[in-house]
Amino acid sequence: MTKIIKLDDALSNKIAAGEVVERPAAIVKELVENALDANSTHIVVEIEEGGLTSIRIVDNGDGIDEDDVETAFYRHATSKIRTDRDLFQIGTLGFRGEALPSIASVAHVSLKTSTGVGPGTEIVLEGGVIKQKKAAKARKGTEITVTNLFYNTPARLKYLKTVHTEAGNVSDIINRLALAHPHVAFEYSHHGKEVLKTSGNGDIRQVIASIYGRNVAKKVKPIEGESLDYEISGFVALPELTRASRQYMSIFVNGRYIRNYALARAIQDGYHTLLPIGRYPLVVLSIKMDPKLIDVNVHPSKLEVRLSKEEELGQLITQSIKQIFESETLIPEADTRK
Ligand code: ADP
Ligand code: MG
Repeated sequence: MTKIIKLDDALSNKIAAGEVVERPAAIVKELVENALDANSTHIVVEIEEGGLTSIRIVDNGDGIDEDDVETAFYRHATSKIRTDRDLFQIGTLGFRGEALPSIASVAHVSLKTSTGVGPGTEIVLEGGVIKQKKAAKARKGTEITVTNLFYNTPARLKYLKTVHTEAGNVSDIINRLALAHPHVAFEYSHHGKEVLKTSGNGDIRQVIASIYGRNVAKKVKPIEGESLDYEISGFVALPELTRASRQYMSIFVNGRYIRNYALARAIQDGYHTLLPIGRYPLVVLSIKMDPKLIDVNVHPSKLEVRLSKEEELGQLITQSIKQIFESETLIPEADTRK
């Protein structure tokens, strides 16, 4: 008698959801990344109860063709890669084809989309099951609403923190995405109250002002650097603005927010003795590199990546930051630590 069975799609999607869509912020991240991959220039995010009761994302991107709308919710269905060669040079934020099926498997989802050609399409799913699909008038772009999150996974629901904490996590991820994509206008609101609004005019300093305040934006210095394989740019705050947490260092690789201990260390080394023990700088660092030099396929959340020649990059970062502070005579001013 055989004992091994192949799990059905609904169950395997739920298993994948455990990793890809841990909490509301992870859902927002996946959906905003989809909007960015679709060339959107304006992205609206509205959440209720920290995203637990509702997450709505509206973009003005390419939209999804009527014939692709159902397929988009299949596991491992993607328009972003085709061959294994593509897998080793990922130029988009998504590529795993997991977000939509995973999200749909643990929530109610309604998606309205139009490519701007012909009528748009609306699809409604509950727990991954399609309840309705019909032609619907829609503006070019995609609008997706996720409600009743984790209604069928009670343990996950219990694991979530307070509305305040979940909303804070959503805020954090949107801040990073807005910093990484200053050419995109972001609007984020919680309970109808505006939390972040950026203009999309490409000015990172303005995004920094919207997130951290104008006072901080006045005290950041631009950095730039180039090595054989890497190009870096961004802003570093004056040492007087040090923080008690590492989370004010945002590192982006080809527009993707990543967490990387070695690179965070390289930033801190750039400040050298200007950082008191236990204090961390506020930094926005964008790294551009050949996608062939990054392996994004490390973890479903794609927050961790493997970089070739990480040491070369670390040195470039440290040197570029050092130069800034060496060329300045820093006059200590009032401490504005948070
Ligand atoms: P992935 O992003 O890894 O391809 P997803 O499950 O997140 O997988 O999305 C599946 C597909 O649905 C995408 O490849 C894309 O073609 C389409 N899609 C999803 N969201 C959008 C969007 N906001 N605008 C346009 N197309 C989208
Ligand atoms: Mg995606």
